[in-house]
Amino acid sequence: MGLLIQLCTIQIFAALSSNFALATGESRLEVDAARINKNLQELSEFGKNQKGGVSRVAYSDSDKGGRQFVLGLMKDAGLEVRIDQAGNLVAFRKGSDPSLKPIVLGSHIDTVPEGGNYDGNVGSLSAIEVAHVINGIKYSPRHPIEVIVFQNEEGGHLGSRAITSGLTEADLNLKSLSGKTVRAGIEFIGGSPNELPQARMIPGSIAAYLELHIEQGGVLEARKMQIGVVEGIVGIRRWNITVEGMANHAGTTPMDMRKDALVAAAQFIVEINKTLTQMPGRQVGTVERLRPCRALPMSFRVAPNFLLRFAI
Ligand SMILES: [Zn+2]
Repeated sequence: MGLLIQLCTIQIFAALSSNFALATGESRLEVDAARINKNLQELSEFGKNQKGGVSRVAYSDSDKGGRQFVLGLMKDAGLEVRIDQAGNLVAFRKGSDPSLKPIVLGSHIDTVPEGGNYDGNVGSLSAIEVAHVINGIKYSPRHPIEVIVFQNEEGGHLGSRAITSGLTEADLNLKSLSGKTVRAGIEFIGGSPNELPQARMIPGSIAAYLELHIEQGGVLEARKMQIGVVEGIVGIRRWNITVEGMANHAGTTPMDMRKDALVAAAQFIVEINKTLTQMPGRQVGTVERLRPCRALPMSFRVAPNFLLRFAI
């Protein structure tokens, strides 16, 4: 938590500061850490759970409430606010040079079930804080600034994909963690699923996208570093693997005559871990799921088939 508070107090952008210094003679332009923390705290009330975290899955009532709260903050920051066809919250501030493309800042406020109070929220509220500070000093950067809070980032990057690659019918028919389909969810939060193509951004239409995000690996904290800059992005590949065995009587089949799929799956899982840790590099791998391919018979048998789902 200490790390996050430090992240919030960083100077906004070096480039912005130097422009501002030119305009006013001041050398620093700082965000208000107390205000960010207060807003984070208030946002965490939407979907708050007993364990001190938050369950604010996309398209739930608490998601809708949190979005309403954030929309109010955007207005307070002097931004023009709209909900795009995909249900993203989009807030805009004009720049002083109309020929320049917007600098986009943003993140998301939906969470996984039993999520934390900072993932996505720090980026969303810090982006609004940037706009707030600029608004307060009546300084107009040359570029327009757009703050976007993407909807349903945790359920498959739905909001950000809607404005980039677009969503498919299959995406819209997916059932989200709220129980609503994505299509119904988008309607629920004020979007318009039948007009999704209008939410698409034309490639090259923005100057830059910046997002402040908590680090999810714990490396900065372990190394006592305040902030890191992303140099690359994780490329995830997923596999579903079926391990086939042979069902037989668990009480009478001799060990040397068994084809126990669970034993094979267990060895495979250990092997994935060993291989990845022994190879040089920063690769990671996770076996996400292990489940029987069909319902297990209600008797003592060995070796049903197992489905492993893993990602590297
Ligand atoms: Zn996130």
